[in-house]
Amino acid sequence: MERKPIIGLETHVQLDTVSKLFCACSTNAAEPNSSTCPVCLGMPGSKPVLNRKAVEFALRIAVALNCIINSQFFFSRKTYFYPDMAKNYQITQYEVPVGVNGFVQLKSGKKIRIRRIHLEEDPAALVHDAGISASRHSLVDYNRSGIPLVEIVSEPDIGNPNEARDFLDQLVLILGYLGVFRLGVNAMKVDCNVSLQGHERVEVKNITGTRAAEKALGYEIKRQSSVIADGGKIARETRGFDEQTLSTKSLRLKEQEEDYGYIFDADLAMVELSEKEIAEIKTGLPELHWQRAKRFVEEYGIDAYTAEVLASAFSLSNLFLELAKRVQPKLAAAFLTREVSAILNRDNLFLEELKLEPEAITELLKLLEQQKITEKNAKEAMIAYVHKKILPIDFIAREGLLKDLDSEETYKIIERVLGENQGAVSDYRQGAQKAMNFLVGIVMRETSGKADPKTVQRMIEERLKGE
Ligand code: ZN
Ligand code: MN
Repeated sequence: MERKPIIGLETHVQLDTVSKLFCACSTNAAEPNSSTCPVCLGMPGSKPVLNRKAVEFALRIAVALNCIINSQFFFSRKTYFYPDMAKNYQITQYEVPVGVNGFVQLKSGKKIRIRRIHLEEDPAALVHDAGISASRHSLVDYNRSGIPLVEIVSEPDIGNPNEARDFLDQLVLILGYLGVFRLGVNAMKVDCNVSLQGHERVEVKNITGTRAAEKALGYEIKRQSSVIADGGKIARETRGFDEQTLSTKSLRLKEQEEDYGYIFDADLAMVELSEKEIAEIKTGLPELHWQRAKRFVEEYGIDAYTAEVLASAFSLSNLFLELAKRVQPKLAAAFLTREVSAILNRDNLFLEELKLEPEAITELLKLLEQQKITEKNAKEAMIAYVHKKILPIDFIAREGLLKDLDSEETYKIIERVLGENQGAVSDYRQGAQKAMNFLVGIVMRETSGKADPKTVQRMIEERLKGE
């Protein structure tokens, strides 16, 4: 019998702040344990101070995910004993989080409900395989201790691994537009709760990346199905996902929430938001992807499909906005969604990492706009730019890719120019040589100076003789 999978996700998102959640330590340090202080080392007597920016970011997320904002919220201590948490408790939110009862809409239109969104600190990083003492020791890096996280908890509305990936992709997209999270720079970790209808629930913890989440869920559903098919019982447990073998293994039997002994953290004041502050978060929200797609259609006359493709990659849509100031927007949109996307996808590259100059791409698109190069050669030039950092315009010059106008094209242009300038044509017929110079001038302009003026004059004379 097919059993329906029931999936809920708890997504931990690192907020893109300069300093940690409860102290002034930098969130961006390379040397292990170099960005620490008494607060994030959990020293007795140290006092946490809440990072205002992190609160603002959490509120933006809650608003964008359609949550009800709690105008008063506070922090709690979640007790557990482990070397990654020096003070033996994590500061998190339990009873009253930042926001509740929101939703994320999938590409299919299906809504996945969001139960809650809360702020919490990241624990330190444990390094288990540091190559010392034959792995009998683990190292702790407290740089990560106190990094601000937002945990986004969904209701169990997700029906299969594919939907889980769609959900996470939508989340990453929204967070990017909100300016609170940068993919590839900030960390995202997902805990997947998955069960088959009528059976116990299993949590697969600490999965990085949307593809890994999809894989882990696929594996876990198969595993649970076969346990049940063999007459076995699913244990309520916590499992880990191994990215190498793409399988999950048991870590421990699942603890209950009450085991953590949450208590109110009296070191932190209650956060109280006025109506005005909440309204400001709402009105100050950056443009989101669906709004941008709509704008692309309305302001630039781009078709709805292309607009959506452009808008569903944050950095691609930003590049488009730059290019659209300088070349035909439709041309820029087509080049980005067809050629540039294909180059990036083929080699699994991220636009953010490439640091391409809009100016250099503009020069290339201008040539395309004036039909001085073929689309194929424009793509070649773009590939050289992405992979070898050769400026497109240099590549085209070096490879001799500029189109030479052949006489047939020149002839077509002459036909059109003569048709549009009947007055000058009849002046010429009545002997005005100036009218010929005028016509040659227009043709030269229309060919962007690529034709030879003497040849053009001869061709016009031939053409008018023939009539
Ligand atoms: Zn610190
Ligand atoms: Mn958490």
